Amino acid sequence: MKRILVLGTGGTIASAKTEAGYKATLTIEEVLNMAGVEKRDGFRIDAMDILNLDSTLIQPEDWAVIAEEVYNALPEYDGIVITHGTDTLAYTASALSFMVRNVDKPVILTGSMLPITEPGSDAPRNIRTAIRFAVEDVPGVYIAFMDKIMLGVRASKVHSLGLNAFQSVNYPDIAYVKGDEVLYRHRPPARAPAEPLMDAAIDPDVVHVRLTPGLSPEVLLAVSEKVHGIILEGYGAGGIPYRGRNPLKAVIMIAREKPIVMTTQALYGGVDLTRYEVGRRALDAGVIPAGDMTKEAALVKLMWALGHTDDVDEVRDVMLRNYVGEISPASGHLQERNERDRQEDQDQG
Ligand code: ASP
Repeated sequence: MKRILVLGTGGTIASAKTEAGYKATLTIEEVLNMAGVEKRDGFRIDAMDILNLDSTLIQPEDWAVIAEEVYNALPEYDGIVITHGTDTLAYTASALSFMVRNVDKPVILTGSMLPITEPGSDAPRNIRTAIRFAVEDVPGVYIAFMDKIMLGVRASKVHSLGLNAFQSVNYPDIAYVKGDEVLYRHRPPARAPAEPLMDAAIDPDVVHVRLTPGLSPEVLLAVSEKVHGIILEGYGAGGIPYRGRNPLKAVIMIAREKPIVMTTQALYGGVDLTRYEVGRRALDAGVIPAGDMTKEAALVKLMWALGHTDDVDEVRDVMLRNYVGEISPASGHLQERNERDRQEDQDQG
């Protein structure tokens, strides 16, 4: 008999209207009952609440709590479903992907945009999609939303109101679930590469700064004093201004001691710091390209890397290496290699 564990953490999916607005109040048992999930023949569904929070309130320490529950449940279950608020769901999905490595079962996060207590809620549909996928033989951490299964570490929330709120970024959807049928678009390997491993050490002292015209080096330096690493969200393919206020001046100083990882404000395509002069200058300054990682994956991965080392070169190696499908193997490395080749050509000629 297939065994599925459903872990509740709160979010809109478990919310009801209160005088103070929607609030996560329902237990996961109540959510499953309202979603009409029956304990079908051939299936055993266990349910357990871990947290009951609007996911805006989720902190990096909560990721380790959820990760621990997942890790402990892996030997007992065929699949694990986690219900979660949508606002930070992509961050939690990334965190679980790095913290519980080599998961040997499907672990699927889902949520809903309308509370299960509201008419027309998308909660029953998303829960059914997640539960259906939980009995597939594809290990990994996924997000189930609107019939779609996405690799957790590649998904972002792209709509604040619409029901089709998540998209897989720079990566194909894994599958679509239609009733009982699972139609694969990009089938992951059927086996985990090694035994499951709990590796939850993180350093949450990381900040995400959005580059905007006029950002001053003083502000960047002041921010850098308070953190151990910076995600700098640049424009387009990536680069740092060196004219006028010249934030590059600050980046050169900071990057010697603390990792600065560059992502992009563009949703698709990722960064390529070899493309423009402003990007090459960033590379020369020691900026680490996030390649085609999502902003959520890049931030969580930087926290995770810093949880293991504070050596900037070691953090760089972690950021450029692909662990769970979060970065296309060529994207970050290629940029660094192109840059090295260019430097060598220049030096030789
Ligand atoms: N604020 C809610 C949350 O993230 C939104 C949702 O679940 O859709 O918990």
